[in-house]
Formats: sequence, C-alpha cells, structure tokens
Amino acid sequence: MGINIAIDGPAGAGKSTIAKLVAREKGYIYVDTGAMYRGLAIHFLDQGIQAGETDKIIEACKDAQVTIRYEEGVQQVYLNGQNITSRLRDEEVGNMASKSSPVPEVRAKLLELQQGLAREQDVIMDGRDIGTCVLPDADVKVYLTASVETRAKRRYDELVEKGIACDLEEIKRDIAERDERDMTRKTAPLKQAEDAVLIDSSDMTVDEVVAAITALCGGH
Ligand code: C5P
Repeated sequence: MGINIAIDGPAGAGKSTIAKLVAREKGYIYVDTGAMYRGLAIHFLDQGIQAGETDKIIEACKDAQVTIRYEEGVQQVYLNGQNITSRLRDEEVGNMASKSSPVPEVRAKLLELQQGLAREQDVIMDGRDIGTCVLPDADVKVYLTASVETRAKRRYDELVEKGIACDLEEIKRDIAERDERDMTRKTAPLKQAEDAVLIDSSDMTVDEVVAAITALCGGH
C-alpha cells in the first residue's frame, strides 16, 4: 500500500493545479479522477448519447475501457486504446461528465481503476468522493474550496488568457449548477469527509495552499 493523499472539493477550487505541485514536491503520482469521468463522457458523446439517457449510458459503459498511463510523469487518458487527453477539457465534455457521474454504474466502473492505482503507488488523488468513498483510509484528506465568485473569476481569467470569449456571469451560473449536481446526487455526493482538513483558498495564493498541504503530508 502506497501513501495516499485525498483532495476533494468543488469545480474550480484549484485542486488539480495544487495537487500537481504537491505531487512534484513530494514525489507522488498525481491522479486526476475528474479526467476519468471526462474520458467516459467522451465515449457517451461520441455515441450520440444525451445526458438524460441513463439506460444508454449504462449500456455504453459496458464497452468503454478507460485506462491511465503516465508518460514523462503526466497522466494520459486512453479510451478503448486511443489517447483522448487533448479533448478532456472541452466544455461539453465537462458538462457531460458532471451529468453522467451520478449514474452508479459509471461510478462503479471507475472506482476499481482509482483504488487500483492507489494500491500500487504513492498518490495524491483529486476528485469529489476520494476521502469519503474511494480512499476512506487515506493518510491525509483535504477539502479544498473557494467562494463561487473566486472560482468563477479564476476560470474567467484562464479562458481570457487563452483568448476564448466568455461571460463571467454565465461561468458563475455554470459553476453553481455543477456544485448543486455534485453535492445533491445520491451516490457518492461531494461533501467534506469527517476527518478532512478544510482549506478555503479564496484569499490564498497557490504557493500558500501548496505549503499548507505539503505541511499536512509531513513525513508521508
Ligand atoms: O474535476 P472535473 O471538473 O474534471 O470533474 C468533472 C466531473 O466529474 C465533475 O463535475 C463531477 O461530476 C465528476 N467527478 C465525480 N467524482 C470524482 C471526480 C469527478 O463525480 N471523483
């Protein structure tokens, strides 16, 4: 059993940015579980399935093989043997991931993959249910959050930087809707694990958050 660090929190809280930096500092493998939900979402979208078509989603799960490889330390996601990493961050993929992730069959499919990765190596894994469901015995658990305003502004700045036209109010609405879906679903909803440390990054710099989590990891 390797060292297991769990980071959960809502969309746009900076989990992946922070987890990648902590991973580099501590020599852990960074496992992005959102990317796995996004990988399955690509499979559903490519089959022309709509978000509400639960029966079709369950059926399509059967012939979807999501695998993870690490190439030069960077997580690559493969869907049925094809590298789909470059499509993961598309907006429609994120929306489909958020709408299909409540389906228990979707979650069951990815749970085994996630637990297998954590068994074999030292990992820092981020997602929504890592501390509560995937790695309940993790060595360190963090619930990383920030206000909706802060998260929306960060996302807005990111898109503007890339030259993508966007609307701050629309981003804020989208984030609030995603929070609501992730927190109220029946299976593995987003919530802070009882033994997780809460970090609100609204008024913290990236370096400060990384330092706080690295300190929690201590001798691990
Ligand atoms: O974190 P990211 O935005 O990439 O995740 C996409 C979607 O996947 C989330 O909105 C959430 O619904 C789902 N997800 C999940 N459980 C995880 C990771 C992601 O339900 N552990």
